[in-house]
Amino acid sequence: MNRSRKNKKPAHKDRSGRRRPDSDAQPEQPEGGDLPYTIQVSAEMGRYLVASRDLRPGELIISEDPLVVGPCYDCQPLCVGCYRRLDLAAQDFRCERCGWPLCAADCPGRGAEHGHSGRECEALAASDARRHLVEDLRAQYRALVPLRCLLLKAGAPDRWRALRGMESHDELRRAIPSIWSSNQSAVVDRIRRLWRVPGFDESEIHTVCGVLEVNCFEVGQGGVSIRALYPTAFYMAHDCVPNTNHTDDAGYRLYVRASTPIRKGEAITLSYAYTLQGTLKRREHLRDSKFFECRCARCSDPTELGTHAGALLCPRCLAEGCVLSSRPLDAAAPWRCARCHDYSVEAPAVGLLLDRIGEEAEAIDGNDVEALESFLLKYRNVLHANHYLFLGALHSLSQLYGKVDGYLIDQLPERLLLRKRDICRQLLGVCDVLEPGYTRLRGTILYELHAPLMVLLSRSPRFSPQQLKEVMRCLEEASVILGFEPLGSPEGDMGAAARQALAHLRKSAPDI
Ligand SMILES: [Zn+2]
Ligand SMILES: [Zn+2]
Ligand SMILES: [Zn+2]
Ligand SMILES: [Zn+2]
Repeated sequence: MNRSRKNKKPAHKDRSGRRRPDSDAQPEQPEGGDLPYTIQVSAEMGRYLVASRDLRPGELIISEDPLVVGPCYDCQPLCVGCYRRLDLAAQDFRCERCGWPLCAADCPGRGAEHGHSGRECEALAASDARRHLVEDLRAQYRALVPLRCLLLKAGAPDRWRALRGMESHDELRRAIPSIWSSNQSAVVDRIRRLWRVPGFDESEIHTVCGVLEVNCFEVGQGGVSIRALYPTAFYMAHDCVPNTNHTDDAGYRLYVRASTPIRKGEAITLSYAYTLQGTLKRREHLRDSKFFECRCARCSDPTELGTHAGALLCPRCLAEGCVLSSRPLDAAAPWRCARCHDYSVEAPAVGLLLDRIGEEAEAIDGNDVEALESFLLKYRNVLHANHYLFLGALHSLSQLYGKVDGYLIDQLPERLLLRKRDICRQLLGVCDVLEPGYTRLRGTILYELHAPLMVLLSRSPRFSPQQLKEVMRCLEEASVILGFEPLGSPEGDMGAAARQALAHLRKSAPDI
């Protein structure tokens, strides 16, 4: 566990645009009168959250509204009111007052506190920003959220104080030119010199950049890049095997739940890195963007808790031995075969290999079943079956089999039904260790697993109560986990489908 901040990485590439649900209902709050956490302080971790009582999986720990919301800094042009993605070539509607892109005159985020607020519109309209919106529109977005933060100073002093209480690691960041000088030109100089927004000094703007880099959550769905700051959730410490899961609703309210049992006195954690990534890359990300060296149990174990999520296969002992880092907490340590002890490779070569195969994986069309399968085949003697570069491809396949043209579930031959089943079981085995309990990732895999099991069962000449029980167990757990996701999101809708399928099964087989 360590002290620094998080990005929610999507568990998978979302292929469906999310319709954000409307909700006027009162947001759910943690049970009982007392908060389920206390804030503690340690020299190593700073402030962090600790369970104030035993918490059970699924229990709500934090439910809170954001301090600020806005586009990520490298985003595509979005509506600055509701964050809908915009195709400016087809339709280019601008706010009449400030000139920034909106989806339409009646955009629901217009005038909204976490959209294009009146305060922001006024400040932008009074600035020189409009002159720069013609050329290089995309670059302007990067300074928008920092400006939203700065405008809280006069507009919402309580939220500004909460924001200024967050870590910004100014000293560390100042020493890294790629961060500091990039912020200087893209944000500080833009706000002060190009846009000529008065009232904010350089160091204040740099601090806001740091607060955002260190503490932001990625929110929203449908593949749109939106980030938000929250007043309490930022206290959560990091662990590469976290004990919470979080989601956000249509109004960007954040809900943090225990994913595993958390004992009274234990730290409440989340992962600031993508959990399905190997230690070498995960620690690099944590070091470069969150400014700490993770030394958690997973990072300290060369096998990543037995999953082998970063293991290469040994070319000497014909892919039977695993090549692992000899000292995983030292990124420069050589890698060795744990079986023959005869083969070793220097860390930079491992890094290059992972980059090269990673680029190849990235280039694959996420809907191309054949391409994903041939990628797995091509590197089957190089990477361990659970290697993180495989897990991404396997996760895509777990969803594509049964869903895309040519592979619809009722048309799948037995061979491919078994393939889907085995992929889901393999992924579940890894998730049980790296993202255990009530996590969105496990919920979606359980739901995907029920489908081939069900079809195999229906095609089998002999009815097996055992198999039906397995289907129901998958659906029961998927219903609970995905029931925490907002309806209208892909996962929330999957949860509703799981509940429906379960009700149907219970009706048709009441004795099981
Ligand atoms: Zn809009
Ligand atoms: Zn405006
Ligand atoms: Zn770690
Ligand atoms: Zn070997």
